[in-house]
Amino acid sequence: MPKIRPAALALAVLLAVSCAGSPPAERADLILTNGAVHTMAAAKPRAEAVAVAGGRVLFVGTTARALRYRGEATRVVDLGGRMVLPAFQDSHIHLVTGGLELLACDIAGLGSKEAVFARIREYAAAHPELAWIVGGGWDLPLFPQANPRKEDLDALVPDRPAVLDSADGHSAWVNSKALALAGVNKATPDPFGGRIERDPKTGEPTGTLRESAAGLVEKLVPELKPEDYIKGLKAGLALANRYGIASIIEASAGPELLDAYAALDRSGELTARVLASLHVATDRGVSEAARLTALGRRYAGTRLKATAAKIFADGVMEPHTAALLAPYVDRPGDRGTPLLEPEAFDRLAVALDRAGFQIHVHAIGDRAVRMTLDAFAAAGRANGFRDMRHHIAHLELIDPADIPRFRRLGAAANFQALWAYADPYITDLTLPILGPARSRWLYPIGSVAATGAAIAGGSDWSVSSMNPLDAIEVALTRRGPDDPPGPAWIPEEEVDLETMLRAYTTTGAWLSHDERTRGTLEPGRAADIIVLDRDLFAIPVQEISQARVLLTLLDGRPVFRDPSFAD
Ligand SMILES: [Zn+2]
Repeated sequence: MPKIRPAALALAVLLAVSCAGSPPAERADLILTNGAVHTMAAAKPRAEAVAVAGGRVLFVGTTARALRYRGEATRVVDLGGRMVLPAFQDSHIHLVTGGLELLACDIAGLGSKEAVFARIREYAAAHPELAWIVGGGWDLPLFPQANPRKEDLDALVPDRPAVLDSADGHSAWVNSKALALAGVNKATPDPFGGRIERDPKTGEPTGTLRESAAGLVEKLVPELKPEDYIKGLKAGLALANRYGIASIIEASAGPELLDAYAALDRSGELTARVLASLHVATDRGVSEAARLTALGRRYAGTRLKATAAKIFADGVMEPHTAALLAPYVDRPGDRGTPLLEPEAFDRLAVALDRAGFQIHVHAIGDRAVRMTLDAFAAAGRANGFRDMRHHIAHLELIDPADIPRFRRLGAAANFQALWAYADPYITDLTLPILGPARSRWLYPIGSVAATGAAIAGGSDWSVSSMNPLDAIEVALTRRGPDDPPGPAWIPEEEVDLETMLRAYTTTGAWLSHDERTRGTLEPGRAADIIVLDRDLFAIPVQEISQARVLLTLLDGRPVFRDPSFAD
């Protein structure tokens, strides 16, 4: 037992007595009782109950003591052992553009032509207000010669032009109205870099346009209006709240997206805290610092801030556009090309850091990661290391020599852990082009975490599932979230549940410079709280992705409630 000075002991006794004697003055709006409360606070990691008042956490502790804050208007919810956590933060997400995709005619992942037809008919019927039916995601093998016909689409959408992209984005299926509007007929020549599929007898377009030929129609699709972006954002927010997400880092924002965030912030409908990463036009160089500073000022709101700057350092692995330290195995001499030169990157980082921006970088290949860490180091040397919390997202391949540098530079590793298992993108498209030695260092979450560096988590939605529980499970198992138990892929890089929950709660709050106001459940912190249907620490790790969020509170108010969760 630690030594306690008598005066302190007397005070503690006095406080205990006064607590036991009269009830506390403040009344709770809501008390969650009999839960498995994981506060994520070092001082008091576990509790049974949380009391909330005025949007803040009032008390965390036992059910008996929490109930002392009960007043006449207090709602009391008996959780029956369900789990309570600080609400999740997704630290790399495209919330508006993802939401727009949700609202378009989404025909991805449907197993049959009939299912595709049914979805299109349903969507068109549900959206009489749309002048065009736009969407995509059809799988090539569903149609003979990967060539869906205009007649089929005419039957589904007879009254308006329709254009639907293939899942791989290289073909478009259009109806007769769209072809007529674009003036595409048997006399139209194939454009450069594209092909109009035609009937071999008549020469008439059949309804599929390849590559640049799709542009003949797509250039006519009405541009998105500000209200479209707002609708997309609302759809994205609703999904985020369902998954227990109450804070996000928008991965790349320009003025259209910022306008949408700002509109909902003003109307009080922004149901997540948003740190927007302002898209940097890297070709404009250091002058971007001034432009972004003006944007940051203009878009500072209540739940919105635009204090981060987003730089793309390279492309992606599968088409060999990620920047590597050593050449791709299948392409001698080709190391991929970074999207900016190291010297330009350093100068840009120095300027943005000096202007007070937190730098958020897309880096996939090990050379892009090293260049980014070098740029962060250059910024620190030039301006002083000032707790800027710069971070790198994706981090598919990290050279082991660079792993300790995150901690040393105070930079966070923003992983998309859902990608860290041996799916076909890895086995068929990545391992063969990297070779076995380097592949050991794919998504090295465990190694970076072991250095004590900050590990944050994000989905990159709509690239992949937004559900944080999917990503958390994969980080623990290094297997697909739906796979049965079995051998992990690179088991050395597994991490534990505590590390991943921190990534999505406390470290997220820290990454957004909000750690003093949220990210843990402690008195005085924002009541950003979630209830899950089961205690993640009490179930096999393979079941984590099956758990469901039942309630999401932001500032103490429900932004999502599962219909099964009555209170
Ligand atoms: Zn992204």
